Amino acid sequence: MALPPKILIVGGGVFGLSTALSLRERHPASQITLVESASAIPNPHGSSVDTSRIVRADYASAAYSRLANAAVQRWRSTSWGADGRYTQNGLLLVYPSDSPSAQAYARKSYANVRAIEGENVVFLPSQKDVLRVVPPYGEELDVAGGYVNWGSGWSDAAAGVRFAKGLLDAEGKTVFRTGEVERVLFEEGASSPHAKPKATGVALVGGETIEADLVVLATGAWTGKLVDLRGKAVATGQAIAYIKISDAEQKELENLPTILNFATGIFMIPPRGNLLKIARHAYGYRNPTTVPVPGVSPSGQTMQVSLPETGVPVPLEGEEAFRDALRQLLPRFVNRPFAETRICWYMDTPTGDFLVSYHPEYEGLFLATGGSGHAYKFFPVIGDKVVDAMEGTLEPEFRDLWTWNEIVAQKTDTDDLFDGDGSRTGARNAILKDELARTKKAARKGVL
Ligand SMILES: Cc1cc2nc3c(=O)[nH]c(=O)nc-3n(C[C@H](O)[C@H](O)[C@H](O)COP(=O)(O)OP(=O)(O)OC[C@H]3O[C@@H](n4cnc5c(N)ncnc54)[C@H](O)[C@@H]3O)c2cc1C
Repeated sequence: MALPPKILIVGGGVFGLSTALSLRERHPASQITLVESASAIPNPHGSSVDTSRIVRADYASAAYSRLANAAVQRWRSTSWGADGRYTQNGLLLVYPSDSPSAQAYARKSYANVRAIEGENVVFLPSQKDVLRVVPPYGEELDVAGGYVNWGSGWSDAAAGVRFAKGLLDAEGKTVFRTGEVERVLFEEGASSPHAKPKATGVALVGGETIEADLVVLATGAWTGKLVDLRGKAVATGQAIAYIKISDAEQKELENLPTILNFATGIFMIPPRGNLLKIARHAYGYRNPTTVPVPGVSPSGQTMQVSLPETGVPVPLEGEEAFRDALRQLLPRFVNRPFAETRICWYMDTPTGDFLVSYHPEYEGLFLATGGSGHAYKFFPVIGDKVVDAMEGTLEPEFRDLWTWNEIVAQKTDTDDLFDGDGSRTGARNAILKDELARTKKAARKGVL
């Protein structure tokens, strides 16, 4: 299917850059502009930018497992993974005895990746078997079993973004603009009085406008400000901490597999550059913010949605969760100060599926978002799926998961509190500013 001549992508993360790469290849006659609010790409506050991201085909869902395997092949054997951008160190997925859901996820995931990776995937039926794979971890490790997939790895996330931007720069056909999009512009009744309003471009903060025939919002956790996504997607803040380690510690830990515990959500990716990262995949913190309801013309109405707050540290609650995990994994690091902590933002949908779809109420408005904490690994392949969806040729298995009308919160979910894909843990309604206030109070009392 032909796409219109002028396409504007908003956002320079995984979804935006990967889409630009696929559009350049498949629709070379289209004029592609990408606008990003950060002064440079990689944007250090973007969700796609960090020291590392897990690259795994280990999914309980067979569809994601297959797509992730296609991505893993690209990371492994093309320039995507060259120059240290991909390290195949393995992934150790573990579960404790008291978490049937984590065990069920691990078992389904094991079956899926065993079918793909064969002997690379080894079932570990007991704690003893797990510790044989990761000898430096403490005997206190509360796990009942798991499996290791030596075919999984991790990517240097900032370097991957730099690489994708570099491919587009080298080709020289994509126009990059810096600016924060304030709103999408629409024209009403362009083709007939009853036609849907048509997106005609965007207005930037400061008043400048950019015209386009097709606007693609790849704005990650910020998307809820530009389109009303209540009930479809919510920004949740996730905790990350980094610990400085010595050369000897780096040597000891650098070749271990990444450990991921779906019962606690804690994962630890092997260190690079004497920095050990520990993070938590959880329901996360929300940051309710009042913004105008987006739409064709300003209505004066406002809504409350969770939007990213960047540059803030991990609250005490999160630090304590990391120290509890370290007490089991690497007890000698329990009291070591964190060199840095960060809240990184997921754009969560009710089921953890991506949102890759035209907006049903407007012509010329497309969304490529809803990363739900697991989209980075798909960087080399997701742009092709986005363009398939734009052309109307996306395979039914993904169309049924990623299309606007298919993304519906369960009855038990509220507008911004979703169950996810069954891989989340922790408090379900933590509010970032309350947790930060608690942290400050504890510091004043001298608890910290
Ligand atoms: C802590 C953490 C750990 C993760 N771990 C993994 C992992 O191990 N493996 C994995 O596969 N995935 C992982 N993910 C998920 C993955 O990183 C994300 O799903 C993916 O990076 C999202 O990409 P994006 O393009 O949607 O968002 P982003 O990278 O955030 O890009 C959106 C861009 O849009 C820009 N933007 C927003 N609003 C505007 C505006 N109004 N105007 C102009 N520009 C705008 C932003 O500045 C930003 O640069 C993790 C995510 C986090 C936060």
